[in-house]
Amino acid sequence: MHFQTEALHAGYEKDTQRTMAVPIYMSTAFDFGSAEFAASSFNLQQGTDNVYTRVGNPTTAILEKRFATLEGGSAALAVSSGMSAIFYSVLNVAQAGDNIVVASQLYGGTVTLFSQTLKRIGIEARFFDVHAPETIESLIDDKTKCVFFESITNPSIDVPDFDAIVAIANRYGLITIVDNTVATPVLCRPFEHGVDVVVHSASKYATGQGLAIGGLIVERENLAEKIKGNARYGHFNEPEVSYHGLVFSDSVVSGVLFTFRTRMILMRDTGAVMSPFNAWLFIQGLETLFLRIKQHSQNALAIAQWLEQHPKVKKVNYPLLPSDKSYANAAKYLPTGASGLLSFEVEDFDTAKKILDNVAIFSIVANIGDSKSIINHSASTTHQQLSKEELKKAGVSEGLIRLSVGIENSEDLIEDLKRALEA
Ligand code: PLP
Repeated sequence: MHFQTEALHAGYEKDTQRTMAVPIYMSTAFDFGSAEFAASSFNLQQGTDNVYTRVGNPTTAILEKRFATLEGGSAALAVSSGMSAIFYSVLNVAQAGDNIVVASQLYGGTVTLFSQTLKRIGIEARFFDVHAPETIESLIDDKTKCVFFESITNPSIDVPDFDAIVAIANRYGLITIVDNTVATPVLCRPFEHGVDVVVHSASKYATGQGLAIGGLIVERENLAEKIKGNARYGHFNEPEVSYHGLVFSDSVVSGVLFTFRTRMILMRDTGAVMSPFNAWLFIQGLETLFLRIKQHSQNALAIAQWLEQHPKVKKVNYPLLPSDKSYANAAKYLPTGASGLLSFEVEDFDTAKKILDNVAIFSIVANIGDSKSIINHSASTTHQQLSKEELKKAGVSEGLIRLSVGIENSEDLIEDLKRALEA
């Protein structure tokens, strides 16, 4: 079936009440009915939906199935935020003493997670420039556990060469993890390019209206084949003490191996769970994602083309502009659009500040992916915690302004920017 149809129906079998809208099961726990069923649930012999909402919930399960279908994966796990999706996906493969190879061009929160927080728990992040994927090889050793990058980087708006990165990772039996938040599964299909795990901040385009924080981890079909017997991933292949010696790679249905371990170990023990109400909000948002993201992309391209010819603009970053360094990769990996995210550079921070203070339709907000247009100065907000060196590597200059172009009329948006640039 096509994306538009799956976005409205996948994962939901109408229950006895035959409600058209997916019901919200706001319940912390579920009645096992018998002592034997309760015991077998805790022994992982039953499904995960009706035990305790920290490890599964019927409403959240519909979102998980729908999201997995839309990404073309075999299973998904919903978590409380995009950051927890990233954190869990890495913790599911790496522990103290290990390292991960990650793109330099990333969302600021992801950079601090990798360079500071993971460091404190003994996991080293080794950074590579997405425009030089050949450098990845020199960063890999026996303790490397994954390669992580974003499909459209935020806020530098680069599009990495998936095929080049995946080919190197595969040569070393390494899991690749892609943050597909900005591109969404409508515009970019990481699994079709051999990526193993996709993570999302659902807080962005998935909700579309800036309503809730949430995240998802999706695994590809047959990922288990890469993990089973792979010495890098001992914890999947060795007896798990907290489940009486269960070996995950032997015992779990192969299509859910990665997400099941995340759920039953990391979610069980650290509990960054998505509320069923938020899951329901994301289900509503996904229904219109296909329509919205096309409009976001069309508006952003029109604005990028207009900004490019404005004398006060030094540079525009939008992958669908022929002048952009990611143009060739975008043609390959983003064939139908490049989302509403674009950035542009003006002379300095003062010029940027003046523009932010003079727009009327755009709101100054530290978010992206809302239907309403957003303007932001990255270096002083989302990327404030980064050092000068890190800012440079992340492609964030003092005069960089990021736009998350909404679905308003593009002529109105251009008029708003024109007024602000010429104020
Ligand atoms: N990934 C990307 C690309 C983001 O832009 C963000 C937030 O802006 C996140 C992850 C983190 O998501 P959340 O705010 O849902 O934790």
